[in-house]
Amino acid sequence: MALCSKCKKEKAVIYLRHEGIYLCKECFRQYFEERAEKTLKEVNVLDRISGKLVTVAVSGGKDSLNTLYLIKRFSEKYDFEVNALLINEGIKGYREHTVKAFLKHVKNININYVMVNVKDELGFTVDEAAKLFFEGKIEWRPCTVCGVIRRYLLNKVSRKLGAEYLATGHNLDDEVQTVLMNILRGDIQALIRGGALVKAEHAKLVSRIKPLHYIYEKESLIHSLIIGLKTPFVECPYAPLSLRWSIREFLNRIEAGNPGFKLKFLSKMDEVRNKVYNALRIVKFTECKICGEPSAKEICKTCEMKLKIQSLLKP
Ligand code: SF4
Ligand SMILES: [Zn+2]
Ligand SMILES: [Zn+2]
Repeated sequence: MALCSKCKKEKAVIYLRHEGIYLCKECFRQYFEERAEKTLKEVNVLDRISGKLVTVAVSGGKDSLNTLYLIKRFSEKYDFEVNALLINEGIKGYREHTVKAFLKHVKNININYVMVNVKDELGFTVDEAAKLFFEGKIEWRPCTVCGVIRRYLLNKVSRKLGAEYLATGHNLDDEVQTVLMNILRGDIQALIRGGALVKAEHAKLVSRIKPLHYIYEKESLIHSLIIGLKTPFVECPYAPLSLRWSIREFLNRIEAGNPGFKLKFLSKMDEVRNKVYNALRIVKFTECKICGEPSAKEICKTCEMKLKIQSLLKP
């Protein structure tokens, strides 16, 4: 590969097609960190974070471990506390590998952590819910169940831990996929609520931040290798069943022919969201009649799923 376009000394390890530059290991590490820092600064998170707690949602994959690494570095510069939270959904052949990577990493960097089993909290695993879906007994695909219950538990547990922000590892590719999924579903309310900072709209909701919001998945992978993260190369067995999977392939084909497409698209989308949020956002959160957690309806989606799935699992 060519020489680094920045320091002009070292051999490049990556070519950023969307910027048209080559970067060496160290210049790329700096670029990555500065991009994430700028993202959080643009949404005014870092200037009022001193003394607060940020809980990082970690799955054990490269994106969440990169996020934990960045948040830990920022915590030294901006003087705030960090801990990590892992939700174990109970997906055999997948989650046990990422849990191992998670435990190894949090011990290495000496971070407090909490691990929550979905089975203990809700009485079923995503594997059990998936079996019911394949048998035609529930209409929710595994990723739908998994996404709903994970969001629910991440919010509930991070709030109980006292977190001011919940940091997640969503990268640019994930974020563009989500935008497109919301457009295809016609879900305008979800569409306008995204961005690098998703502000809490209820006292029991924790604001979410996404340091990798403008960072490509490929860059996240290279960064994880550069800083020596040992992440397992395993894919969740349910991923190919999701709408996200087809959208991912479609978007990757567009990006291949149009370098920088995803970045420009998401930046434009964020501009639009900022402009229309106040005028168009109509969802009001209340508290679920069963569990008391924030919900847009009388009964939250997690309780609805839990009641149905538990009744079908009864012997
Ligand atoms: S691919 Fe779907 S089921 Fe698997 S961890 Fe992700 S959201 Fe959950
Ligand atoms: Zn360099
Ligand atoms: Zn509920």
